[in-house]
Amino acid sequence: MVKTIDNKCFICQKPVPDYRPQFCCNGIDCGCMGLPIEPCVCSDNCYVALMSGIGKPYNERREDAGIDIYIDNNK
Ligand SMILES: [Zn+2]
Ligand SMILES: [Zn+2]
Repeated sequence: MVKTIDNKCFICQKPVPDYRPQFCCNGIDCGCMGLPIEPCVCSDNCYVALMSGIGKPYNERREDAGIDIYIDNNK
C-alpha cells in the first residue's frame, strides 16, 4: 500500500527522513486500524517512551520520559 504520512517522530516530532512506513491494510475490520506496523520514532529513547505509555496521549508519554519536543531551527 502507498500512503503519505508525516515522517515525524510520534514522541518528539523530530523528522525521520529514512522512515518507510509499512502498512498492514487500510484498517477496515482489522486491529491495525490503518496505522503503520512500525511506529515512526527517531531514536530508541522515543521508542521506549512510546511503548511504555500505551494508552496515554503522545505528549504525556514524552513528558513522562523527559524528552524535549524537537524544535526545527531552520524554519
Ligand atoms: Zn523522537
Ligand atoms: Zn490490518
